[in-house]
Amino acid sequence: MKVGVLALQGAFAAHIEMLESLGAAAFEVRGAEDLAEADRLVIPGGESTTMSMMIERTGLRAALEGHLARGLPVLGTCAGAILLARAVQHGRGDQLHLGALDIDVARNAFGRQRESFEVDLEVAGLHEPFHAVFIRAPRITRVGESVEVLAALDGSPSLVRSGSVMASTFHPELSGDTRIHELFCSVAPGASGQGDPTGPTPEAGPT
Ligand code: GLN
Repeated sequence: MKVGVLALQGAFAAHIEMLESLGAAAFEVRGAEDLAEADRLVIPGGESTTMSMMIERTGLRAALEGHLARGLPVLGTCAGAILLARAVQHGRGDQLHLGALDIDVARNAFGRQRESFEVDLEVAGLHEPFHAVFIRAPRITRVGESVEVLAALDGSPSLVRSGSVMASTFHPELSGDTRIHELFCSVAPGASGQGDPTGPTPEAGPT
């Protein structure tokens, strides 16, 4: 399975390493030609405003929108989740939100005291809690009806899925636990944000 990781800015290297450890052929996506090779895509954490500008500058926006509309499975983590959202609070007015997932997010929503923290999260479909690393994390402030909440922290969704689109407000690539990536690799391709009834197989490995 060929998994592209958007590599314009941010924490892409750790995703590539984790995906390779699962046996996937992971590679950096820097332009539309790279994206065309991908069976699925990870949009990593980083700075959503910077990533947004670079997506526009590299001309990747139209390609991303096209592949998402055709059902390319995508996992957005932290800044990646912000880029997939329908609406963004506390963002730059012109920052990109692809609307691939029917969620609204508020950037940097945990306050200065809690800029970075780690917590064990219960995740639907996983037998043991997942040790989640949050770094200047956004808060998901609204989820649409098609969106399934797989984990929540303090009452806010922190891992969500709709059809072939998944998003986490934490960094699943940083705790040496591959289970979220395995879950993502098992999601069936489908229409973007349409609530695919088949869903992922919990704890299944990539094929
Ligand atoms: N605060 C960042 C943003 O708004 C996201 C932080 C992260 O990805 N770790 O883009």
